[in-house]
Amino acid sequence: MAKKPDALQQLVRGLIRAAVGAKPKSPYPRKTLSKKRRYQILERDKFTCRTCGRSAPEVALHVDHIIPVSKGGNNTLENLQTLCVDCNLGKGNQES
Ligand SMILES: [Zn+2]
Repeated sequence: MAKKPDALQQLVRGLIRAAVGAKPKSPYPRKTLSKKRRYQILERDKFTCRTCGRSAPEVALHVDHIIPVSKGGNNTLENLQTLCVDCNLGKGNQES
């Protein structure tokens, strides 16, 4: 068996590289959330963490993207939720 990659292998590797690496890491530039929008979310969720139900000032609240910006999520009200710092950072997430 030849140890050098042959032309076909090189072609396949090139295609994989092109498919995987062609896109920039973050095709969706992160737009900062305006204070107004952030407040809208907190108010809608009654200043309560959607996951564990705790609220300020007991916990620090974050406004979280349900679909991460890096995966194409945006700053619409539907894509934003109130999470406490623990839930947002995964400390309250049982999956991890
Ligand atoms: Zn929480």
